[in-house]
Amino acid sequence: MATDYIVGIDLGTTNSLVAYMQGDSPVVIPGEDGLNLVPSVVALDEKNQIIVGNAARRYLIETPERAVYSVKRLMGRGVEDIQDELKLFPFQLAEDLHEGEVLRIKIGERTYTPPEISALVLRQLKRNAERFFGASVTQAVVTVPAYFNDAQRQATKDAGRIAGLNVLRLVNEPTAASLAYGLDKKKHGIVVVYDLGGGTFDISILKLHDGIFEVIATNGDTHLGGDDIDNLLIALALDDIRGDLGLDVRRSGEAVQRIRKAVIEAKIALSSQPSATLDVDLPGGKKYQREISLEVFEQMIQRIVDRTVGPCKQALKDAGLKPEQIDEVVLVGGSTRIPKVRRLVQDLFRRAPHTDLNPDEVVALGAAVQANILGGGSEITKEMLLLDVTPLSLGIEVAGGVTDKIILRNSTVPASATQYYTTQVDGQTNVAIHVLQGERELARDCRSLARFDLKGVPPMPAGMPRIEVKFLIDANGILRVSAREQRSGKEAEIDVQPSYGLTDEQVENMLLESFDYAEEDFRQRQVIEARREADTILTALAKGKKNQAWQELTSDERRNVETLEKALVAVKDGDDYHAIRGGIDALNEATMRLAELMMDTAVSNALKGKAMDDTDLEEGLQAGHPVAKAEFE
Ligand code: ADP
Ligand code: MG
Repeated sequence: MATDYIVGIDLGTTNSLVAYMQGDSPVVIPGEDGLNLVPSVVALDEKNQIIVGNAARRYLIETPERAVYSVKRLMGRGVEDIQDELKLFPFQLAEDLHEGEVLRIKIGERTYTPPEISALVLRQLKRNAERFFGASVTQAVVTVPAYFNDAQRQATKDAGRIAGLNVLRLVNEPTAASLAYGLDKKKHGIVVVYDLGGGTFDISILKLHDGIFEVIATNGDTHLGGDDIDNLLIALALDDIRGDLGLDVRRSGEAVQRIRKAVIEAKIALSSQPSATLDVDLPGGKKYQREISLEVFEQMIQRIVDRTVGPCKQALKDAGLKPEQIDEVVLVGGSTRIPKVRRLVQDLFRRAPHTDLNPDEVVALGAAVQANILGGGSEITKEMLLLDVTPLSLGIEVAGGVTDKIILRNSTVPASATQYYTTQVDGQTNVAIHVLQGERELARDCRSLARFDLKGVPPMPAGMPRIEVKFLIDANGILRVSAREQRSGKEAEIDVQPSYGLTDEQVENMLLESFDYAEEDFRQRQVIEARREADTILTALAKGKKNQAWQELTSDERRNVETLEKALVAVKDGDDYHAIRGGIDALNEATMRLAELMMDTAVSNALKGKAMDDTDLEEGLQAGHPVAKAEFE
């Protein structure tokens, strides 16, 4: 049995949680351990069973190579843009990653993409909700930081799908927090959301008009939060232990783990008490104790807390606002429970922040409010929801059977995009346009939506025509594809309905496949493209040998070219990418002078308007070669 409940989920860097609407108020759903927060930690135990949440935390210490945390930092990002994270976090990437490939992280002997790891956290939350309701839960609203770009948002949606959750909507975290406080009911105003979590600080300024939130400025620090406070206290304790007890336990994972636990407890106690005691039983029987007063604690964290000031001021400046113009301030993130942080926020924005709801739960609560709005919405709003983004990428087939994406999945509609292509074959007068939907690299693995021919292109050498292919999706999700050869003005177009007939299940399978096959696809694509390039250069060379320029080369040059030609022919139909690539490069270099000599003839022929020879024309008249990627843009 499935419930009608749409749950709200805060998929956090440090902690995640799930909430739902109980009557008129949102409520967090606890896990089996009775705790509301599920640490965003995933581990593999000795038997390769997946462990998520609190239970996974001890693996971080005992077998760190079998656990990951903070994976939200990697969502929707490439190897190139996570170098900063790699310096600060012990992420272990899969060894065989290629440029442009989906990132994979090693846990034990296995590798997972960031969306797959997030999916494991989501699946745990889904299970918690299902246990709570005694029924299956399949729909969710999930929150993301306001600054998340399209790729990061899409990765979050993918995580939902992989977890078996239909993500009806992604909501910005600051918007969710504002919804939890019911600020949308005020209709108009400026809301500041100050979010200090475990490892990140985000400041967002929202403008509320007619009950709709618009993010007008964001700023923050992706490496600032409660973890920094913990590390300060740990350093203090390690110093003490060395000084007072004469023990150096910095390298003892077990000792550091116990100290970490103790300092977090002390830190939390200090949010509601004037002092707290650090109390650690060290391995080997010794005991470390130290009392920390609120005063000392506040001095210690001063510099950390002050680091939030700059981003706040910058966000105000970017929004063109003065503190007096702020109507509401909302606190988010566990670290805003610290009284000193609250005072700082109050001073900065000159008004008392909202503190009634738990700051580490408020985002999930707001997601539940949003879920409830969607669930209760009319058929029309539901329909609009489904149509508001393209579920899969749209593109066309290009030479070699490769998919060229023109509109990327998750683009908001209406959308339009244009790409330029050319012909593969000399004298080609008909050009096949094959419209595809899907994420896979090869056309045959994508869904074929439509085919049409652009006919009557005047014969020109391959690569000469300039074919503009335009994709336009209107607000109803109808796709119009048009192709126009710009030199001749010939055009053709077709209407297709991309989402028609494609079930969610199919979309999901296609997405899953694209993850499963990403690597294999990449290799195949490389080989296909290299083969095609080899064909192009060999054909060009065959032509070149008939050219007078060939005779102008020295006999040594000719012999060298022919040896390399034979070598390339020998490897080009094989599967060894590097061999083909090497063959192409060598032949390219050897034929450089031939190309230069031929260029002179070609230019003079073109100037004379010399027609192409008949064999070329015949070849081109066979209809329907797909387009080739154009060098020009
Ligand atoms: P995130 O949004 O990064 O997933 P949270 O909002 O759950 O994280 O915040 C987690 C951080 O809040 C941790 O560093 C935790 O130690 C800290 N925290 C939780 N409760 C308190 C408290 N009472 N006092 C101080 N810090 C707290
Ligand atoms: Mg958070």
